[in-house]
Amino acid sequence: MSRYDIDVRKVLRTAVWFANATVRSTAQVERRFAQAVRAPAAFMTIPAEHVHAYRGGSAPPGVEPHPHKRGDQGVMGDLLTAAIGFPRLAGPERAALLHRVREKVAAKVHPAPEVIIPKRGPARLGWQTRVDGVEGAMYFAAFVLLSDPRQQRRVGICAFEDCDRFFYAENRGGEQQRHCCPAHSNRDRQRRHRARKASRK
Ligand SMILES: [Zn+2]
Repeated sequence: MSRYDIDVRKVLRTAVWFANATVRSTAQVERRFAQAVRAPAAFMTIPAEHVHAYRGGSAPPGVEPHPHKRGDQGVMGDLLTAAIGFPRLAGPERAALLHRVREKVAAKVHPAPEVIIPKRGPARLGWQTRVDGVEGAMYFAAFVLLSDPRQQRRVGICAFEDCDRFFYAENRGGEQQRHCCPAHSNRDRQRRHRARKASRK
């Protein structure tokens, strides 16, 4: 049972998807994140012509470019990379990263009072997490990774040298996943095997 009313695995899977994705439209990104956080109708969206805010590149005339050259996707990749390296950071760097992520989460993620109507029994007052848009979901994902070592260990960057995709390991226990897909795991194994053979000659 999750400690949150949000399915964090869904949010993390979506964060990894976004960092790797070929973004075609703003709606594509917003739909994925809204589904992941089960956001109510008020999930924040941006105009379709502002797709550069998600995938980077040039902005339409008169529109501010995104501060990151790869847009929010670049920010997501940086956040995942920072979360992967978090356990090895020195104390002050850790504190600075936590502070930065926490400030965003505090601005974009809110507990909202909600009338909970169970299938049986009387209605009662409860709390529901509200996430404001893609940025809120991105930083919420980073916050989960920084605060939950079990989730943190599931996220990685593919070890195959021609690949820099992020992955979210679904299987618990067993061998630590190091690749984005079985194909890259196999190709890496073949490559190491060839390298060993060559070094024996
Ligand atoms: Zn890969």
